[in-house]
Amino acid sequence: MTNPATNLFEDGKRTILVADDEFINREILSQMLKDDYDIITAEDGEQAYEIIKTHSKTISLVLLDLIMPKIGGLELLSTIKNQNEYSGIPVIVLTTDQESEVVSLNTGASDFIPKPYPRQSVVKARIHRAIELSEDRQIISDTQNDIITGLYNGEYFYEYAEAFDKYHPETDMDAIVLGINNYQVLLERYGKEKCIELLSLIAGELKKQYPQDEAILCHKEMDLFFIYCHHREDHAEKLQNVSHAVDLVFSGVKLKMGIYKQIDKNLELRNRFVRARMAYDKLQGNYHDYLYYFDDEILKKILFEEQLCSDFKTAICEEQFTVFFQPKFDITGDTPVIAGAEALVRWRHPSLDMISPGLFVPLFENNGLIYELDDYVWHKTAAMIKEWRGKFDKKIPVSVNISRAEMYDPNLANRLLNIVEENGIEISDLHLEITESAYVSDSSMIIDRVEDLRKKGFFIEMDDFGSGYSSLNMIGELPIDALKLDMLFIRSAFKNHNMKMLDIVIDIADCLEVPAIAEGVETEEQYLKLKESGCSLIQGYYFSKPLPADEFARFLQ
Ligand code: C2E
Ligand code: MG
Ligand code: MG
Repeated sequence: MTNPATNLFEDGKRTILVADDEFINREILSQMLKDDYDIITAEDGEQAYEIIKTHSKTISLVLLDLIMPKIGGLELLSTIKNQNEYSGIPVIVLTTDQESEVVSLNTGASDFIPKPYPRQSVVKARIHRAIELSEDRQIISDTQNDIITGLYNGEYFYEYAEAFDKYHPETDMDAIVLGINNYQVLLERYGKEKCIELLSLIAGELKKQYPQDEAILCHKEMDLFFIYCHHREDHAEKLQNVSHAVDLVFSGVKLKMGIYKQIDKNLELRNRFVRARMAYDKLQGNYHDYLYYFDDEILKKILFEEQLCSDFKTAICEEQFTVFFQPKFDITGDTPVIAGAEALVRWRHPSLDMISPGLFVPLFENNGLIYELDDYVWHKTAAMIKEWRGKFDKKIPVSVNISRAEMYDPNLANRLLNIVEENGIEISDLHLEITESAYVSDSSMIIDRVEDLRKKGFFIEMDDFGSGYSSLNMIGELPIDALKLDMLFIRSAFKNHNMKMLDIVIDIADCLEVPAIAEGVETEEQYLKLKESGCSLIQGYYFSKPLPADEFARFLQ
C-alpha cells in the first residue's frame, strides 16, 4: 500500500497527477495548482496508469477525467481501487454531469470537481481536503495494522476488543491463541521470506473463518495470532479448515489452538489471553492434539502459582525454606561408603504443607525469584558444611543445584566465591550441579561460564544427563568433572530391560574420564547392576531419601 504520509515529511510539496485528454484542461489545472503542488500530466488512461504504477510512492492525488482514450476514467478508477498498492491514493474525478458523479463516488473516488471548473480557491480547497483525509487515514492504518499480515497489531487489538466489550456487554466471547508448531524450525527450513508468506496465508484464512462482524484478529508476535470472537463451538472445524489451506502450500506445517471459551468479563483482557495462552502451552510436546481448552486444572495451577509467588518474600524472611541432604555413596569398593551429598530445597509452607521444588523452582526460574532462593540455599548449605566440619572428622563435598537461569548471571562465580569465603569453607567442598539442558540453550556462552567456574576450582557435575539434550559430538568439549545420569533414564532402562543403553552412558563417562553418578536408585537390583556396569557413585532411596540436616548427620558419625 502507498504511504502518502511520507510525502509530507520528505518534501512539503505534494505531487498531483492530472489525467485529461484535452490539453486546455490540463493547462488550466496546472496553472491553478503549480504554486502549491508538483504536477505530472497524462494524456490518456493508459499513460495515467503507467505513471501511477511507476510513481505510486510519490503521487498524493489523481485528478481524473472520465472520458479519455485507451482506458476510460471510470475503468482506471476501478482498477486503481482494486489494487492494494494503489488503492490508498485518493482520486478526484473531473465530471460534466451529476449521473457520473454518483457512479464515481461509488467506485471509490474521494470527491468530484465539475467542469467547467469552479473558482481556483474552491478547486484548491477540495484537493487539499482529499489529500489530508487520505494521509490521516493512512497514518491510522499504519499504526494499527501489522505490516506482514494486515491484521491488527497487539496494542490496537486490545483497544478494539475493549471497545467491542463496551458496546456488547451481554455477548459471550472466546479468546483464542493460534500458533505455528515448530516455527523456529520452519524459519531454518524455509527462510524468512517464505515464512512471511506463511504468516500472511494464515492471516487470510483466519479472516475467512472468522469474519469481521464477529471476530477481531491480531498478529501478536512471530508465529502467534490472537482471536477475540463471539462464542462458538466449532473452533476445531475452523482450525481444520485453516490448517488444510496452509497444508496445501506448506506441506506438514501444523497449527495449534489454545482456547479460553466464554471468557469471564471481570478478568482484564490481557489476562483472558494469558489463559488462552496457557491452554495453548498445554499442547507443547503433545503430538496428538492440536486444540486445547482452558480448564479447571489450569485455573488451579494459576491460583497455586500466584499464591507461591506472593508468599515468597515472607517465606524467605521466616525461613520456611529448608535444605534437605541426600547422601551419595561410592560403590567402587567392597562396601558402599558415603562420598558426598546433594542439597535439595523444600518449602514448609504454613498452609500448604511441604512443597517440592519441582513445583516452585521452574516457576521462580521464570520470574527471577530463583536468584534469591538459590543464594539462600547455597548459604544454608555452606553453613552446614562448615558445621559438620567442626563436629565430625569426615570431610564430604555437598553439591548444590545451579538453575539454568543462573547461567545467565555474569556475577555467578563471584556470588559462589563469596559464599565459600563468608562461611569459611573450601571451594572443593561445594560441588555444582548444572543440568544438561542448560548447556544446550546458549552453548558457547554457557560453556565459557562453566569453564571459568572450573578454573576457579569448582567441581562440576552434569545433572540429568541422558534426558536427551546434548549431542554426542558436543559432549567431548564440555567442561565437566562428573556425569550424573538422569533418573528417568535409569528407570526406563530397568523397566524395558535395556541395559545396553545404560552401559553406553557409563562408557561415555569412562571416555571422558569422569565418574558416573546414578541418581534415583531405588532397588538392590538396580544397585548391583550399576555396580557391575562400572558406575562409581549412587544416590537414591535405596540408600536414603533426602533428609533434614540433623538426620543426615548420622551418616557422618
Ligand atoms: P535433581 O537435581 O535431579 O534432584 C534429584 C531429585 O530426585 C530430587 O527431587 C530427589 O529428591 C529425587 N530423588 C532422589 N532419589 C530418588 C529416588 O530414589 N527415587 C525418586 N523417585 N526420586 C529420587 P526434588 O528434591 O524434588 O528436586 C527436584 C528438582 O528440583 C531437582 O532435580 C533440581 O533440579 C531442583 N532443585 C531441588 N533443589 C533445588 C535448589 O535448591 N535449587 C535449584 N535451583 N534447584 C533445585
Ligand atoms: Mg541435582
Ligand atoms: Mg538430577
